[in-house]
Order: sequence, then C-alpha cells, then structure tokens
Amino acid sequence: MIVADDILLMIPGPTNLPPQVREALGRPSFYHRGKDFADLLAFCTDALRRVFQTSDDVLILNSSGTGGVEAAIVNTLSPGDRVLVVDGGKFGERMVEIATTYGARVDVLTVERGQAADPAEVRARLDGHVALLFVQNETSTGVRQDADLLAAAARERGALTVVDTVSSMGGMSIPVEAWGLDAVAAGSQKALMLPPGLAFVSMSERAWAAAEKARMPKFYFDLKAAQESLGKGQTPWTPNVNMFRALRAALELILGEGLEKVWQRHHALGEATRAAVEALGLELFSDREHASDVVTAVRSPEGIDSQVLVKNVSAKHGILISGGQSELRGKIFRVGHMGWCQIDDVLRTIQATAMELKALGFEVSVGDALTAARAAYAKATGEEKR
Ligand SMILES: *Cc1c(COP(=O)(O)O)cnc(C)c1O
Repeated sequence: MIVADDILLMIPGPTNLPPQVREALGRPSFYHRGKDFADLLAFCTDALRRVFQTSDDVLILNSSGTGGVEAAIVNTLSPGDRVLVVDGGKFGERMVEIATTYGARVDVLTVERGQAADPAEVRARLDGHVALLFVQNETSTGVRQDADLLAAAARERGALTVVDTVSSMGGMSIPVEAWGLDAVAAGSQKALMLPPGLAFVSMSERAWAAAEKARMPKFYFDLKAAQESLGKGQTPWTPNVNMFRALRAALELILGEGLEKVWQRHHALGEATRAAVEALGLELFSDREHASDVVTAVRSPEGIDSQVLVKNVSAKHGILISGGQSELRGKIFRVGHMGWCQIDDVLRTIQATAMELKALGFEVSVGDALTAARAAYAKATGEEKR
C-alpha cells in the first residue's frame, strides 16, 4: 500500500517539500518577541520583496492563500464600492464571493474557461470602478492572465488592482512594482515550497492610500497593524514561528538557485509537459499562448473520465495529479509542476499518466511522449546549445 508520505505531489498545491524545509519544521518553537524572531522576520520580508519584485514591504500573515486575498480586499475597499472582477475559473469566483461578502458592488467579467481575459475588453468594461480584481494564474484552468496589460488598463481607468498570485508567485516572474500591481496576495503551499499556512501580501503606495479610507471590517487581517508591528520586528499576533523558519529555508533555496533560474526551470517544466500532451495526441485545456508555467490543464480524451484517470495514476504509481473542479470535473486533468519539482518528477508523471490512459483504452506512445518532453525541456533550458 502507498501511504501519504510516499506520494509524489504533482497537484497545484500543496506541493512537495524540500528536505531543508522539512528539517526546519522539525525544530523547536521559540519566543516571538525577541531578536531571533525579529532577524528572521527581517530576512523573510526582504527576500519576499525580491520574489515579488517590489521595494514595498511584503506582509506575512498566518493563514492559507485565501486569507491573503481576503486581506488584500478588505484593506483596500469599502462596502458599496463598485469593483470589476475577472472570473475565469474557480479562484475568480472566489474573489467575487469575498468582495460580495464584504459588501462591494460587484460587476463580473466572465471569461470562457481555458481562455485569458482580453485586456481591451477589461478596459472597456472599467467605468468608474474603484478596483479591478483578478487572478494572475487561474489554477483551475491552467491559464495565465496578461497581468501587465490588465494592470495598465486599470491604471488608465483610475482603478486599483487587487491580484491573486497564490499559485504563481515564486514560480513565475511577476514584477509587482514594474507592472503597477497594487494589492497582491500569495500563499505558501504552491510554488514557494512550504506547507499550507502562510499568506503574503504586498501593498503599493496607492494601495496604502486606499487603505486609509477602506471601511470593510477587519481585525486579524488588519494590514496597517501588520505594517506597524513590522517596524518593531514583530507581527501583531503570535506568528507560526516554526513556519517562519521553514520560510527562511525555502527563500534561501530560491535565492540560492537564483530567481531567473527558478522561473526558467518552471517555464521549462511547463514546456516539457505541454510537449508531452501534444505528443500523446491530447489537447491542452488552456489557450496555448496563455498556458501557465506552474500548472498544465489537459482535456480528458473522449470517453475517459478524468477522475478515474487521476485515481488510477495515484493507486498504481504513487503520483497524485488533479482532476477538474466544479463543471470541469471528469472533463480535464491538471498536472502541477511548481516549487520543489524537477524534470524527473515531470517525466515520471508523464509516463504514469500515459500508461494509465493506455490502460483505459486510449492509444498512445509512452516513449514518444517522454522523448518530446525531454527535448522541450532541453530546448527551454538552453541545454541543446552545449
Ligand atoms: C490555491 C489557491 C488559492 C488559495 O487557496 P487556499 O486553500 O486558501 O490556500 C487562491 N487562489 C489560487 C489561484 C490558488 O491556486
């Protein structure tokens, strides 16, 4: 029997943990009001600035990614504010729900599942809205938005941007400051190679100006309180000190590899996965031009329930991939290739998935898929030049 500890996680979070992170998690707890924690907080905040590509502080919260998205919303908006939300999947829907829960007047721009939003359409729809809310990498469909163009449209229309980068931050280059993204939320358990439980939020100058007037209720997720405490080397409430140690370990790994290299590795893993999909005669669910580099969504072949495929890959190979969510259940499957993930993990996953597709009656060449994936990976990492 395969126990949970032996499962290779090829889902879009939680992801596999590097040994250094696991080691950090096994160490004792320690006092959070003192120099040790202050030093740790300072290191993590500074390293996160580099990951987010911003000179603004990145605030660290005890919660899963959704808490970070909620914090970004309630700290910048007031009940009654008109906002436009790009809804291209499950996590776009979640932004609609959060904003609605806190009393925003929400207009929804629905995007066909698997497609990216058209920046010109977003620009045309923005009409006196206080903010534009969108998911930079829609994990449920494997789609990357043109966040730079959406932000430019928002800026032109005088709207603030509130952006969910939970599944992509750390795995894809998202130049928060250069693109003018205002309130940006990320999470620990995806590309950042940590267990679930921390959220990260950056706030631009415009976002802080909005925070001065924002009247949506908040207490635990009051970012002004977090910002004030940060100045004293603390967090307002008891932080998950063990996770902060793990965060330092993960950030050291990322900066040690080099951010450009990390992004390139994810892109190469995406290219390898997409090449295998093509070689298997399958169809990407997402628009090729906007296919995510951290998660690949694939249409299940005619007559094959993707839930069955996922189950067989896990039971027979000890590799967990994802099915589709909500209306996509049974219709697509998704492979996460983010965080602590190398080409060998992707190749193993391609092989297992191809074998199980074959067992379900879909004729494929496992060898061709692996060859295509290897070649695409080599090309994307520039190995073929050596
Ligand atoms: C995983 C994810 C979230 C957050 O989910 P949590 O379970 O709260 O961590 C939010 N948005 C996107 C795009 C995600 O992939």
